[in-house]
Amino acid sequence: MKRYIPILGYHKIGAHKGDHVPTVIPEVFEQHLAFLKQHRFEVWPVERLVGALAAGQRLPPRVTAITFDDGYAETYTVAWPLLKRFGFPATVFVATAEVGLPGFITWAQLREIAADGFTIGSHTVHHTYVPRAATALVQEEFRASKQQIEQAVGRSVAYLSYPVGGFTTEAQQLAREAGYAAAFTTNRTFHRNGLDLFAIRRIKMTDKDVHLMILWAKLSGFYDYFRHLPAPA
Ligand SMILES: [Zn+2]
Repeated sequence: MKRYIPILGYHKIGAHKGDHVPTVIPEVFEQHLAFLKQHRFEVWPVERLVGALAAGQRLPPRVTAITFDDGYAETYTVAWPLLKRFGFPATVFVATAEVGLPGFITWAQLREIAADGFTIGSHTVHHTYVPRAATALVQEEFRASKQQIEQAVGRSVAYLSYPVGGFTTEAQQLAREAGYAAAFTTNRTFHRNGLDLFAIRRIKMTDKDVHLMILWAKLSGFYDYFRHLPAPA
């Protein structure tokens, strides 16, 4: 069996607002973090995890990384204080045109969490669904978002998260050419043919993970196993 690398993919931590944003209420998010701590998971910065994966190093049995897509305001107001309390690092992927809009994190807040050890990555400029966008647009979205974050936050940006997890082989190449070291998607399958640094998979976290056994199953890879069992006839 291929080794499963559980990287957690969150969106919004906060109250449900009846929209389509995958949301985890703060109490449940805190339970997730407490679970990781209790079960002695090592939460690594994404740089360390990707570096180890790229180098083909053997990972500890319980290691994970925490990521947030979209950069909602609550990433700063709710998630960051909780993560700090547990001493866990995280990565935040922002669509640069959304930074500072109502409901989204601001550049000043991104600078603050970056100074605190968080990683800021790109989620394109306009949250563009890559598989349906023209090559030139994808190129520009990857390039411009990276540059904007680097200028505004003052740190180099090495990671990209494809909006809605959508990517193509061409997009993977464009991400590489734009200077990224790795890119993340949301598909929850095994890395059947070895690790692809430009399609690193994450577990999409929702409130359904209120049951810690399900969280455990997701982290351990059993979740993937169950998903791929044939449907009963
Ligand atoms: Zn997104």
